[in-house]
Amino acid sequence: MYKQIELTYGYDALEPYIDALTVETHHGKHHAAYTAQLNKLAEEAGVQDKSIEELLASLDEVKDEAKRTAIRNNGGGFYNHNLYFEEITPGGAKEPTGKLKAAIDEAFGSFEEMKKQLTNLALTQFGSGWAWLSKDKNGKLYASKSLNQDNPISLGTGQTPIFTIDVWEHAYYLGYKNLRASYVENFWNLVNWDVVASKYDQ
Ligand code: MN
Repeated sequence: MYKQIELTYGYDALEPYIDALTVETHHGKHHAAYTAQLNKLAEEAGVQDKSIEELLASLDEVKDEAKRTAIRNNGGGFYNHNLYFEEITPGGAKEPTGKLKAAIDEAFGSFEEMKKQLTNLALTQFGSGWAWLSKDKNGKLYASKSLNQDNPISLGTGQTPIFTIDVWEHAYYLGYKNLRASYVENFWNLVNWDVVASKYDQ
């Protein structure tokens, strides 16, 4: 059973950066629907005992093409949003420290440069998708973007996501309308870098 992350904060806790109705709809409707669909599909395909990471890394083993596509989309939707809603807990560290900071400096030169690159990826993702900060097995960091509910695991990059920005319109449209750039700029205010650091350290 794949379990949707429970919010540790109220729907209005991310205001003024993300409005309460967006959080309620995003978590309570969109993310809940991906989770319910994933559980149904995984059961039907007999892959429900795999961890979500294992499942997304072994989609080829689902032989039925329509089912494989549906598991890729709903499994990605489940996984991606669990990371998203966990990393934006209000409060917490406002910038990276320790090993994560060192890895960011190594890969990007500075925290500001990493934010700039991720912001650019988020803004240039045409249509629905995500921007990613991921690590490989040696702890090296990478910035990337993906379409729909794909992620660095389902794309077979060998990287593990530690931070993401959701740029589907459902993530911002009620509050920002077409202004994705304002949403992304404000999004940085919500990131709890302690959570990202713990993902990096795992
Ligand atoms: Mn979303």
